[in-house]
Amino acid sequence: MTEYEPVIGMEVHAELLTESKMFCGCPTTFGAAPNTQVCPICLGLPGTLPVPNRRAVEFVVRAALALNCEISPRSIFYRKNYYYPDLPKAYQISQYGDDPIGRNGYIEIEVDGRVKRIGIRRCHLEEDTGKLFHVSPHTSEIDYNRSGMPLMEIVSEPDISSAEEARAYLEQLRAILTYLGVCDGKMEQGSLRCEPNVSVRPKGSTALGTKTELKNLNSFRAVARGIEYEIARQTALLREGGVVVQETWRWDEARQVTAPMRSKEAEQEYRYFPDPDLTPMVFDPAWIEEQRAQLPELPRQKQLRFQKEYGLPAYDAQVLTETRALAEYFEAAAKKHSDAKAVSNWVMGELLGRLNAASLDITESKISPEALAGLLALIDKGTISGKIAKEVFDEMFATGKAAEEIVRAKGLTQITDTEAIATTLDEIIAANPKEWERLKAGQEQLVKFFVGQVMRVTKGRANPQVVNDLLKERLQ
Ligand code: ADP
Ligand code: MG
Ligand code: ZN
Repeated sequence: MTEYEPVIGMEVHAELLTESKMFCGCPTTFGAAPNTQVCPICLGLPGTLPVPNRRAVEFVVRAALALNCEISPRSIFYRKNYYYPDLPKAYQISQYGDDPIGRNGYIEIEVDGRVKRIGIRRCHLEEDTGKLFHVSPHTSEIDYNRSGMPLMEIVSEPDISSAEEARAYLEQLRAILTYLGVCDGKMEQGSLRCEPNVSVRPKGSTALGTKTELKNLNSFRAVARGIEYEIARQTALLREGGVVVQETWRWDEARQVTAPMRSKEAEQEYRYFPDPDLTPMVFDPAWIEEQRAQLPELPRQKQLRFQKEYGLPAYDAQVLTETRALAEYFEAAAKKHSDAKAVSNWVMGELLGRLNAASLDITESKISPEALAGLLALIDKGTISGKIAKEVFDEMFATGKAAEEIVRAKGLTQITDTEAIATTLDEIIAANPKEWERLKAGQEQLVKFFVGQVMRVTKGRANPQVVNDLLKERLQ
């Protein structure tokens, strides 16, 4: 049976975090009442003229540089002509051909320890359309607040070979854009939208198969599921002797399947031509270098530095650098505590777990990095056990109090006093003679029983190491 391999290219649209729209002064606030952020320009009324948003251009240049793109020295806005109710001008101002703002870049991803570069074909600037709501079979509503919002499109080369790589690509891209502050990366609000192009081909072949484009994917999980579904569908179709038709398919989240949506428009149907209302953008090389110099440390660089500087595993470093705020949190705590891996474990496990459960962001954590380091210091000094520390952490999370204060107020200090623990242990041995005999006879699983009993009596405050040592002593 012929083996097939998937080939995937990704088109991503990112709404830019500018305060005003792309060609007019309307605000871009998300969630405003429908059609309250509109003017003659973004409603496409005749006789108006677009004025480009300089900030949006800067954002795309910065993103393009972060994506290792070259910047076209002269970049042009085109009209992409088609009629649809969400596009009142009957053309979208976009970019086309070989002069987008950025081109020929790449993103580095890491999947299962394998590092791979995914080519970026182009990175361009356009305007968003309005938003249609199909409220019943005969009624649709339209909100033009989104009409004319600055939108960046990032198109990859077909270098992605699996759903996992597609996900890694998107995570990396989202991290880059949010680090730069050019997009908030919220897929659920539609500020980051992605359309995977999927095809399969016989393994080893270099020619590309016919692709379908997937739409309506609102989460990373949906992207992965949709791609997997489409790979399986196309593979089965080809094995049966069928052919893939170049079409747009949509992901049906409720049914977890892909379904055909519409046939794909050919490029010439859009009748692209340079927009005569807008002059070409010409970028001064010195200005480009200024922009490059202002780029922050990017997620992948940060990840590699965390691995090197703090000795973290790749997985930890990747999770901790997903957002800039989380990376800064980790680093602030790691600077105050010598065991960086312990800091990573507490941040990734205890802190992120509780934040996710409460739908809170790291910036909303009541536990400061310094306070976390304070807690870890108490564990290191043996003042509290790891188990008690989790209880203390719960209270820190709820109240923002310092660990020391909680431990003092609640009398949670670990008992390391050997005499006191020995007395308790001897009482427990005396009360459980049968278990003690069995342990002496070699039933080692009873060690757990005695340690557990001491912990119960001391409410978890006995130092487990001391209990174990005392038990050994008595067994000899
Ligand atoms: P279209 O004109 O249909 O939008 P493009 O050539 O502009 O197609 O490519 C759009 C996206 O699809 C790009 O990300 C590209 O890498 C990807 N792509 C192109 N051909 C294929 C293919 N055969 N299989 C998978 N992805 C592809
Ligand atoms: Mg396309
Ligand atoms: Zn407007």
